[in-house]
Amino acid sequence: MIGEFPSVAAFVGAVRPEIPVHLFRPHRMAQAAREFVSGFCGETLFAVKCNAHPLVLETLWAEGIRLFDVASPMEIRRVAETLPGAVMFYHHPAKTPGQIAVAWETGLRHFAVDCIAELEKVAALTGTGMIPVVRLAIPKGSGAVYDLSTKFGATPDVFVVTLKRAVALGLSPAVTFHVGSQCLDPGAFRLGMSLAVELLDRAGVSVGLMDVGGGFPAYYRSTAAPPLSAYFDMIRQTHAALTEPRGIRLLCEPGRALVAEGGSLLVRVNLRKPDSVYLNDGIFGGLAETYWGKAALSLPYRVVDFLGRPRMGAVGGFTAFGPTCDGNDILPWPLMLPVDVADGDYIEFNLIGAYGREMAAGYNGMRSDAVAVIGQDFAGHLR
Ligand SMILES: *Cc1c(COP(=O)(O)O)cnc(C)c1O
Repeated sequence: MIGEFPSVAAFVGAVRPEIPVHLFRPHRMAQAAREFVSGFCGETLFAVKCNAHPLVLETLWAEGIRLFDVASPMEIRRVAETLPGAVMFYHHPAKTPGQIAVAWETGLRHFAVDCIAELEKVAALTGTGMIPVVRLAIPKGSGAVYDLSTKFGATPDVFVVTLKRAVALGLSPAVTFHVGSQCLDPGAFRLGMSLAVELLDRAGVSVGLMDVGGGFPAYYRSTAAPPLSAYFDMIRQTHAALTEPRGIRLLCEPGRALVAEGGSLLVRVNLRKPDSVYLNDGIFGGLAETYWGKAALSLPYRVVDFLGRPRMGAVGGFTAFGPTCDGNDILPWPLMLPVDVADGDYIEFNLIGAYGREMAAGYNGMRSDAVAVIGQDFAGHLR
């Protein structure tokens, strides 16, 4: 942690960093957490994989987030050390015996499974009180930028037999699904909830808990999605009609929508050529998700000079290269930058609070973990 600064200009003026720096805006994370805590008709878990920094965990905790979705011993240790009172759900559906042991000994009781083999593996290594959270795959075309059901999640038939097997083992299962990340259609949640209820009825199994997953959107340059309140309304209506009458409580586990707006990435222009810029971070670093999301996840950005003063002049198109020696290290969309952009300027990319620092690889020895806190909102995206 480099420190706290009232604005990006104050930070650049004081530090003039040569490495990429993640700028956190905890007040924006707190705001998003309040939206979920007051708007979602159930309890909210935070999906730790999208930002496991202690400051993020503490900020969400202070707003009333008590439950955390983890997927590795590292994430378990991080949450346990930072927030001793937190309750964690192990929502990775393919675990090793050692990982299960770490989780069980740390006190975790909820374990995601999406087939009988994983259910029996976890059951054999844990004791009474283990709650299998059976994950259902969501049919394709649910309106998300990322499909999260091709890799994990049971097909309807496997979902039904896994639930029945859990009951036969004397366990009380819960159910979950993930509509896909950056889901643009609130109707996907109704689809997931109704499919899960239909299959519970087919299995003749009742559950006390349904986790409707993450997938709530952040608002990128190209995003045409309704506001979060539309998702909450859709889920509340479906709950009233389908799950509440069956005595099922709801959980959700957003990542992106809680923290994307709470962080930006400050990248330095290391070299300017006539039609291109060479940046100190790229798709192998803090901009990794941009490579997969392409135009669907295009980030708002702005340019400041080495004293932190915004460059506001006429713009032109630039190819943006990352810092590694790999020829593929190019941003998937050209940047519109002021034509007087110069070596030593900075580009601030917004919406990097989720899947930014966490996804960065150490290729070419160029990973930066540097974090500074900024008191002011991001403003002034270049068009
Ligand atoms: C990634 C993930 C999430 C968070 O998804 P977002 O799209 O960031 O909200 C939640 N649950 C599981 C199981 C995940 O893998």
